[in-house]
Amino acid sequence: MFEKIKGQNKAISLLKRAVESGKIANSYLFYGPAGVGKFTTALYFGMMINCSAAHDKRPCGYCSSCSKFRNFSHPDFLFTFPTPKLDISLDGEIKSAKILEEYKDYIKNKIENPWKKFYFSQNIEIRIDSIRMLEHRINLSPNEGTKKIYIVEHAEMLNEKTANAFLKTLEEPPHDTVIILTTSKLNALLPTIISRCQQIKFYPISQKLIEEELKNQRYLEDTEAKIFARIANGNMEKALVLAEEDSSEVRQNVLIFLQIVISQNDAKFIEFSANFKGSKNILQELISHLIIWISDIAYLQNYPENIINIDSLEMVKQLFMKNPKVENYAFEMIEFLENMQHKLARHVNAQLILIEIYNEFSKIFGGIH
Ligand SMILES: [Zn+2]
Repeated sequence: MFEKIKGQNKAISLLKRAVESGKIANSYLFYGPAGVGKFTTALYFGMMINCSAAHDKRPCGYCSSCSKFRNFSHPDFLFTFPTPKLDISLDGEIKSAKILEEYKDYIKNKIENPWKKFYFSQNIEIRIDSIRMLEHRINLSPNEGTKKIYIVEHAEMLNEKTANAFLKTLEEPPHDTVIILTTSKLNALLPTIISRCQQIKFYPISQKLIEEELKNQRYLEDTEAKIFARIANGNMEKALVLAEEDSSEVRQNVLIFLQIVISQNDAKFIEFSANFKGSKNILQELISHLIIWISDIAYLQNYPENIINIDSLEMVKQLFMKNPKVENYAFEMIEFLENMQHKLARHVNAQLILIEIYNEFSKIFGGIH
């Protein structure tokens, strides 16, 4: 199953060797950029340790143990991640009904579309309750597996208090336990946590590998695969999200937005922005498409064969005419838009973000340059 993970051969062969030689560490830290397969590798590693198939076929993905790992129902597997306040008991019972629904949706999304982002309605961090539950579970013996597997995703979101509580567990983990922390922000972790784990580095995925994945697995056209791979910048997760989006409605909205920018019709913008009250996911998609638009406009003069929105070529030309120097701003604009996506994920009001984007686009495309 490891062949599904692209560009992490070094990490995977290290982990395979550990299992084959029986020298599995008690705690690992998988670190590296976002969207490159750290979580999936951790999951498959746990599956491999507990799989009942022949050695060279592990993880098989189909035995009873693997199946349970795949739908996160294995009694010896615990997945801890940043959440809103859960009021979770030591046995894992969540008392807040509203958050319980979102918690279930998060897991469901992780099983079905692990590359898709999921946004909770409230602020998230790794909660002390979750760590207490993990400690409680760690002290029980395995139910049916060889080892108990604990994945702590986004370990950088342990706050200091929680991290210190967790440190005790990391200091003396039972021998039948494998804890895997994942993070894309190594610097945000306490050094005491880092030093107690075996560190496994993950790398950005090459543009070529992302392109191949988009063409072979998602059936994208050549050009589209190239552009998405470029925008994704080593992040497979992002590339898959771009490929996945059913984009007709969003594309329509993007066209309306760009028209408003060109005409500088503030009244229309206010009307338009009212549609985005509270709908962060739609705005996230809209921003992804604006990123593609910026590339398209920048490509017009020298690389028109790379333009994606070929069916809206007139609009690409209009925007280009508004600012023929757009190529000079393209990198900054894309960075700005990515920043807006991060802000949105951190729960800044969607309408405020849209206003910020409108102002920025107006500066570049609203006047005469
Ligand atoms: Zn198996």
